[in-house]
Amino acid sequence: MRIILLGPPGSGKGTQAKALSKALNITHISTGDILREEVKNNTPLGLQAKKYIDSGLLVPDDLVIRMLGARLNGPDIKEGFILDGFPRNIMQAEALDEILKPKKVEIDNVFYLDASEPVIIQRLSGRRICSNCGAIFHIKNMPPKVEGTCDKCNGNIYQRSDDYPETIKNRLKVYLKETAALIDYYKKQKRLHNINADKDAQHLVGDILKITASKHDHSQV
Ligand code: AMP
Repeated sequence: MRIILLGPPGSGKGTQAKALSKALNITHISTGDILREEVKNNTPLGLQAKKYIDSGLLVPDDLVIRMLGARLNGPDIKEGFILDGFPRNIMQAEALDEILKPKKVEIDNVFYLDASEPVIIQRLSGRRICSNCGAIFHIKNMPPKVEGTCDKCNGNIYQRSDDYPETIKNRLKVYLKETAALIDYYKKQKRLHNINADKDAQHLVGDILKITASKHDHSQV
Protein backbone atom coordinates (compact mmCIF):
# COMPACT_ATOMS: atom_id res chain seq x y z
CA MET A 1 0.00 0.00 0.00
CA ARG A 2 1.29 3.45 -0.96
CA ILE A 3 -0.03 6.36 1.07
CA ILE A 4 0.45 10.11 1.09
CA LEU A 5 -0.30 12.15 4.21
CA LEU A 6 -1.23 15.67 3.26
CA GLY A 7 -1.99 18.55 5.59
CA PRO A 8 -0.65 21.70 7.18
CA PRO A 9 2.31 21.63 9.55
CA GLY A 10 1.01 20.50 12.93
CA SER A 11 -1.85 18.46 11.51
CA GLY A 12 -0.22 15.32 12.91
CA LYS A 13 1.33 13.81 9.76
CA GLY A 14 4.44 12.59 11.58
CA THR A 15 2.52 11.01 14.45
CA GLN A 16 0.03 9.33 12.12
CA ALA A 17 2.76 8.16 9.75
CA LYS A 18 4.63 6.45 12.60
CA ALA A 19 1.47 4.69 13.83
CA LEU A 20 0.41 3.64 10.32
CA SER A 21 3.87 2.41 9.45
CA LYS A 22 3.71 0.10 12.47
CA ALA A 23 0.11 -1.03 11.86
CA LEU A 24 0.53 -1.66 8.13
CA ASN A 25 4.17 -2.71 8.26
CA ILE A 26 5.26 -0.31 5.54
CA THR A 27 8.10 2.20 5.43
CA HIS A 28 7.62 5.74 6.71
CA ILE A 29 9.39 8.33 4.57
CA SER A 30 9.53 11.83 5.99
CA THR A 31 11.38 14.27 3.75
CA GLY A 32 11.63 16.66 6.74
CA ASP A 33 13.38 13.94 8.81
CA ILE A 34 15.75 13.10 5.95
CA LEU A 35 16.61 16.78 5.49
CA ARG A 36 17.14 17.35 9.23
CA GLU A 37 19.52 14.35 9.27
CA GLU A 38 21.44 15.84 6.33
CA VAL A 39 21.67 19.16 8.20
CA LYS A 40 22.86 17.39 11.37
CA ASN A 41 25.56 15.59 9.40
CA ASN A 42 26.66 18.76 7.56
CA THR A 43 26.35 17.07 4.16
CA PRO A 44 26.37 19.24 1.00
CA LEU A 45 22.58 18.79 0.76
CA GLY A 46 22.18 19.65 4.45
CA LEU A 47 24.24 22.81 4.07
CA GLN A 48 22.06 23.93 1.17
CA ALA A 49 18.80 23.02 2.89
CA LYS A 50 19.42 24.57 6.31
CA LYS A 51 18.60 28.18 5.48
CA TYR A 52 15.27 27.21 3.92
CA ILE A 53 14.27 24.95 6.80
CA ASP A 54 15.22 27.52 9.44
CA SER A 55 13.10 30.19 7.80
CA GLY A 56 10.12 27.91 7.18
CA LEU A 57 10.49 27.93 3.39
CA LEU A 58 10.46 24.98 1.01
CA VAL A 59 13.81 23.50 0.06
CA PRO A 60 14.16 23.86 -3.76
CA ASP A 61 12.20 21.24 -5.71
CA ASP A 62 15.13 19.82 -7.68
CA LEU A 63 17.01 18.94 -4.47
CA VAL A 64 14.03 17.37 -2.72
CA ILE A 65 12.80 15.49 -5.79
CA ARG A 66 16.24 13.97 -6.39
CA MET A 67 16.46 13.00 -2.71
CA LEU A 68 13.01 11.38 -2.74
CA GLY A 69 13.69 9.56 -6.03
CA ALA A 70 16.80 8.00 -4.48
CA ARG A 71 14.90 7.03 -1.33
CA LEU A 72 12.16 5.31 -3.37
CA ASN A 73 14.82 3.02 -4.86
CA GLY A 74 15.50 1.61 -1.38
CA PRO A 75 15.01 -2.12 -0.78
CA ASP A 76 12.50 -1.43 2.03
CA ILE A 77 9.72 0.05 -0.06
CA LYS A 78 8.59 -3.01 -2.02
CA GLU A 79 5.58 -3.55 0.26
CA GLY A 80 4.70 0.13 0.07
CA PHE A 81 5.37 3.37 1.89
CA ILE A 82 3.85 6.32 3.68
CA LEU A 83 4.98 9.71 2.42
CA ASP A 84 4.96 12.38 5.12
CA GLY A 85 5.85 15.89 3.91
CA PHE A 86 6.13 15.06 0.23
CA PRO A 87 4.78 16.25 -2.17
CA ARG A 88 4.60 19.89 -1.02
CA ASN A 89 3.47 21.45 -4.32
CA ILE A 90 2.11 20.48 -7.75
CA MET A 91 5.60 20.25 -9.26
CA GLN A 92 6.60 17.64 -6.67
CA ALA A 93 3.32 15.73 -7.12
CA GLU A 94 3.93 15.51 -10.88
CA ALA A 95 7.53 14.46 -10.27
CA LEU A 96 6.29 11.72 -7.92
CA ASP A 97 3.94 10.41 -10.62
CA GLU A 98 6.93 10.27 -12.99
CA ILE A 99 9.11 8.48 -10.42
CA LEU A 100 6.42 5.82 -9.84
CA LYS A 101 5.49 5.27 -13.50
CA PRO A 102 8.50 3.10 -14.47
CA LYS A 103 8.05 1.15 -11.22
CA LYS A 104 4.48 0.40 -12.42
CA VAL A 105 2.94 1.38 -9.10
CA GLU A 106 0.55 4.12 -8.05
CA ILE A 107 -0.45 5.97 -4.90
CA ASP A 108 -3.42 4.13 -3.36
CA ASN A 109 -4.68 6.66 -0.83
CA VAL A 110 -4.06 10.28 0.04
CA PHE A 111 -5.22 11.33 3.50
CA TYR A 112 -5.79 15.02 3.98
CA LEU A 113 -5.37 15.78 7.68
CA ASP A 114 -7.60 18.79 8.06
CA ALA A 115 -6.70 20.74 11.21
CA SER A 116 -7.82 24.21 12.26
CA GLU A 117 -5.32 27.04 12.84
CA PRO A 118 -5.65 27.34 16.66
CA VAL A 119 -5.07 23.57 17.00
CA ILE A 120 -2.06 23.74 14.67
CA ILE A 121 -0.43 26.59 16.60
CA GLN A 122 -1.04 24.94 19.97
CA ARG A 123 0.46 21.66 18.71
CA LEU A 124 3.53 23.11 17.01
CA SER A 125 4.50 25.55 19.74
CA GLY A 126 4.44 22.78 22.36
CA ARG A 127 6.00 20.07 20.20
CA ARG A 128 9.26 18.49 21.34
CA ILE A 129 11.28 15.79 19.54
CA CYS A 130 13.75 13.17 20.71
CA SER A 131 17.10 13.90 19.07
CA ASN A 132 17.94 10.20 19.16
CA CYS A 133 14.84 8.20 18.06
CA GLY A 134 12.57 10.95 16.69
CA ALA A 135 9.71 10.25 19.13
CA ILE A 136 7.28 13.16 19.28
CA PHE A 137 6.15 14.72 22.58
CA HIS A 138 4.10 17.76 23.57
CA ILE A 139 4.79 19.83 26.68
CA LYS A 140 1.06 19.83 27.60
CA ASN A 141 -0.72 17.05 25.68
CA MET A 142 1.95 14.37 25.88
CA PRO A 143 4.85 15.39 28.15
CA PRO A 144 7.74 12.99 28.68
CA LYS A 145 7.84 11.35 32.13
CA VAL A 146 11.15 13.07 32.90
CA GLU A 147 11.45 16.62 31.55
CA GLY A 148 13.87 16.83 28.62
CA THR A 149 14.35 13.05 28.37
CA CYS A 150 12.76 10.62 25.92
CA ASP A 151 10.56 7.91 27.53
CA LYS A 152 11.52 5.42 24.84
CA CYS A 153 15.30 5.71 24.56
CA ASN A 154 16.46 8.26 27.18
CA GLY A 155 17.61 10.55 24.35
CA ASN A 156 17.58 14.34 24.73
CA ILE A 157 14.38 16.13 23.79
CA TYR A 158 14.61 19.37 21.83
CA GLN A 159 12.38 21.94 20.13
CA ARG A 160 12.72 22.10 16.35
CA SER A 161 14.14 25.47 15.30
CA ASP A 162 11.25 25.85 12.85
CA ASP A 163 8.69 25.39 15.64
CA TYR A 164 9.34 28.90 16.99
CA PRO A 165 6.31 31.24 16.56
CA GLU A 166 7.66 33.40 13.70
CA THR A 167 8.67 30.40 11.64
CA ILE A 168 5.37 28.64 12.31
CA LYS A 169 3.59 31.62 10.71
CA ASN A 170 5.82 31.38 7.64
CA ARG A 171 5.27 27.64 7.32
CA LEU A 172 1.51 28.13 7.40
CA LYS A 173 1.76 30.82 4.69
CA VAL A 174 3.87 28.52 2.52
CA TYR A 175 1.41 25.70 3.08
CA LEU A 176 -1.55 27.82 1.94
CA LYS A 177 0.33 29.20 -1.06
CA GLU A 178 1.93 25.99 -2.32
CA THR A 179 0.67 22.82 -0.68
CA ALA A 180 -3.08 23.38 -0.31
CA ALA A 181 -3.42 23.10 -4.13
CA LEU A 182 -2.64 19.40 -3.78
CA ILE A 183 -6.04 18.81 -2.20
CA ASP A 184 -7.66 19.45 -5.60
CA TYR A 185 -4.92 17.57 -7.45
CA TYR A 186 -5.65 14.35 -5.56
CA LYS A 187 -9.40 14.98 -5.34
CA LYS A 188 -9.50 14.97 -9.14
CA GLN A 189 -7.61 11.66 -9.12
CA LYS A 190 -10.22 10.28 -6.66
CA ARG A 191 -7.55 9.28 -4.17
CA LEU A 192 -8.29 11.86 -1.48
CA HIS A 193 -9.85 11.14 1.91
CA ASN A 194 -10.70 13.96 4.27
CA ILE A 195 -9.80 13.32 7.92
CA ASN A 196 -10.77 15.60 10.80
CA ALA A 197 -7.33 16.15 12.32
CA ASP A 198 -8.46 18.32 15.23
CA LYS A 199 -9.26 15.02 16.97
CA ASP A 200 -6.77 13.26 19.23
CA ALA A 201 -4.05 11.32 17.46
CA GLN A 202 -5.24 7.90 18.73
CA HIS A 203 -8.67 8.36 17.13
CA LEU A 204 -7.25 9.39 13.78
CA VAL A 205 -5.23 6.22 13.25
CA GLY A 206 -8.42 4.16 13.58
CA ASP A 207 -10.24 6.39 11.07
CA ILE A 208 -7.42 6.04 8.56
CA LEU A 209 -7.00 2.28 9.02
CA LYS A 210 -10.73 1.74 8.44
CA ILE A 211 -10.42 3.46 5.06
CA THR A 212 -7.28 1.55 4.04
CA ALA A 213 -9.07 -1.72 4.93
CA SER A 214 -12.21 -0.93 2.97
CA LYS A 215 -12.04 -1.39 -0.78
CA HIS A 216 -15.46 0.12 -1.36
CA ASP A 217 -15.53 3.05 1.00
CA HIS A 218 -17.71 6.11 0.47
CA SER A 219 -15.49 8.62 2.19
CA GLN A 220 -13.76 10.11 -0.80
CA VAL A 221 -14.19 13.84 -1.02
P1 AMP B 1 8.44 18.83 7.94
O1 AMP B 1 9.23 18.01 8.91
O2 AMP B 1 7.73 18.00 6.92
O3 AMP B 1 7.54 19.83 8.61
O4 AMP B 1 9.51 19.68 7.09
C1 AMP B 1 10.35 20.62 7.72
C2 AMP B 1 10.98 21.52 6.68
O5 AMP B 1 11.76 20.73 5.77
C3 AMP B 1 9.98 22.26 5.79
O6 AMP B 1 9.51 23.46 6.39
C4 AMP B 1 10.85 22.53 4.56
O7 AMP B 1 11.77 23.57 4.79
C5 AMP B 1 11.64 21.23 4.44
N1 AMP B 1 10.91 20.21 3.62
C6 AMP B 1 10.42 19.02 4.04
N2 AMP B 1 9.83 18.36 3.02
C7 AMP B 1 9.95 19.17 1.95
C8 AMP B 1 9.51 19.08 0.60
N3 AMP B 1 8.82 18.02 0.14
N4 AMP B 1 9.82 20.11 -0.25
C9 AMP B 1 10.52 21.18 0.17
N5 AMP B 1 10.93 21.34 1.44
C10 AMP B 1 10.65 20.35 2.32
